[in-house]
Amino acid sequence: MSSPALHPVLQLTARAQFLTSAPTLAHCPPDSGVEVAFAGRSNAGKSSCINALARQKQLARASKTPGRTQLINFFLLGDDSRRLVDLPGYGYAKVAKDLKREWQEHLAFYLEGRGSLRGLILLMDIRHPLTDFDQGMLAWAQARHLPVHCVLTKADKLNRGPALNALQAVKRELKAAGFEASVQLFSALKMSGLEELGDRLGQWLDYPPPPELPVEAHARLA
Ligand code: GDP
Repeated sequence: MSSPALHPVLQLTARAQFLTSAPTLAHCPPDSGVEVAFAGRSNAGKSSCINALARQKQLARASKTPGRTQLINFFLLGDDSRRLVDLPGYGYAKVAKDLKREWQEHLAFYLEGRGSLRGLILLMDIRHPLTDFDQGMLAWAQARHLPVHCVLTKADKLNRGPALNALQAVKRELKAAGFEASVQLFSALKMSGLEELGDRLGQWLDYPPPPELPVEAHARLA
């Protein structure tokens, strides 16, 4: 079996570095280049997924630091033209109601106003997929014509057969609800599903970039 580290996108994500935490859209880094955002209910396995992509145990820890759980966290991939974005997890019981509302507004501004945002990775625990929150995110993304890729996390919690059944069930439910989204199985524990996720990230992040045309080809096209 080939090593996931050989996948070009996984080589790129392995170079991820924490860039900044933004409390509002105004604090986000310049809206140039391309980025992919990760969203999910708290405890869905979002940090573990980002850490698995980055091949670091602690990278997404910034998002778990008290005071930063409500922030949009940016990770740089290689140069400054590609980024992964960790959106705040939803469902913190401790968050006061007015804070929750404020957070939702900032998130809405980000999702609606961010030109460099190419796609949304929606993480869902394979045992509890398509919660109200997940459906809200799907509806939001669809209204904005933002492509969504659903990642069913903690797939190792189920045997292979039930995991595949869960995958098919989510595909059916998405279709029935009119959502256009791709779905995959993932386990940060087993480091499985990384290449499939890498393929999708590569499409959205334009990576690897298409080879430059040789000079002669430019001359022929002219
Ligand atoms: P987040 O709140 O969405 O960032 O979720 P975390 O990544 O912190 O994960 C929440 C809990 O699920 C932690 O206890 C993780 O150890 C556990 N977890 C995350 N990914 C996996 C996985 O692939 N398999 C298993 N068995 N547990 C996982």
